Amino acid sequence: MTNEPDRISFDDLVSAIEAKLTAAGASSAVAKVLATNCATCERDGTLSHGVFRVAGYLDSLTRGWADGAAEANIDIVGPSYIRIDGRNGFAQPALAEAQPQIDQALSDTGVAVIALRNTHHFSALWPDLESFARDGRVAMGMIASGKLAVVPEGATRPVFSTNPFGFATPVADADPIVFDFSTSSMSHGDLQLLRAEGKEVPVGTGVDSTGADTTDPNAILDGGGIRPIGGHKGALLSFMIETLAAGLTGGAFTFEIDAEAPEGAHTFRTGQLFIVIDPERGGNDAYLARVRGFVDMLRDAGMDRQPGDRRYANRAEAAERGIPITDTIRSLFD
Ligand code: NDP
Repeated sequence: MTNEPDRISFDDLVSAIEAKLTAAGASSAVAKVLATNCATCERDGTLSHGVFRVAGYLDSLTRGWADGAAEANIDIVGPSYIRIDGRNGFAQPALAEAQPQIDQALSDTGVAVIALRNTHHFSALWPDLESFARDGRVAMGMIASGKLAVVPEGATRPVFSTNPFGFATPVADADPIVFDFSTSSMSHGDLQLLRAEGKEVPVGTGVDSTGADTTDPNAILDGGGIRPIGGHKGALLSFMIETLAAGLTGGAFTFEIDAEAPEGAHTFRTGQLFIVIDPERGGNDAYLARVRGFVDMLRDAGMDRQPGDRRYANRAEAAERGIPITDTIRSLFD
């Protein structure tokens, strides 16, 4: 890769983030996983969950709110069912620690249900989901993300987090299809970015502290709330995600954790649920080709923008030219 002056290589970016995290108390194993995750988001253009997030990780580490050296407790509670207590560490390193048990469950039964609790998840879901799909698995994930931010119609205060849901599937002779979105009209990270840029948001994105529609990100973030996607249907998806990612895992519901977190905390100790399936199990050998046919049909019908297309294009450009250096990346070297 040839690096242009205003670009940085993926490996150099990982190293710079790793150095910051270890200096703030993360173990080298945890720093590696989190730095790779942040750099992956930055490289693929998920800027709301890229280097922008490093300051929040550092804050949680330095104030002792999250344990950057935690080692997860991994319980195999059924042939396909893995319960993980992250012991106040971060979710992705806990998931990575459980990879041997996940592989075993998939090999024995074709299914792994992975329930994490007591874990901080401060990133996008897609990097982990894509990784399962690259191993030939179908995967989905969801998070009780911990920040009370979403006000469904009828409620007078935020009751849900932005509760992201992600899905990934392998596709024959193509990159996996991976999508991952908050079940709110806009993710909290994107709103913060727009606020920082002084921009407005479309009507319907959220409400101010009196419950009135507003286009001002400040009013939504400071005392107001974000609307769910699709009215009551998005609210019910949030209900399901909180129930599975917090209730089922044994982690905290968003309404519990946000009340407990110290003022200004960035990461939240919540729960996450992943379900990973071997799609060819039981003789379903045609799965990959059939999904390829399905995706081809969608493109042929005019749905030519598929989830992942934007990220894979950014990734290819970064491989060629490096990752664009933003002020946020520059601040890693201050
Ligand atoms: P986006 O709207 O950015 O993207 C949603 C998904 O839809 C992406 O997979 C995207 O693919 C795909 N997509 C976008 N436009 C189209 C289109 N026209 N046709 C088909 N597919 C399309 O999601 P959000 O802003 O809601 O969420 C951003 C990230 O924030 C997510 O990764 C989520 O996990 C994360 N998040 C994390 C939280 C946490 O607590 N950890 C809380 C809330 C959100 P592509 O990637 O190719 O653009």
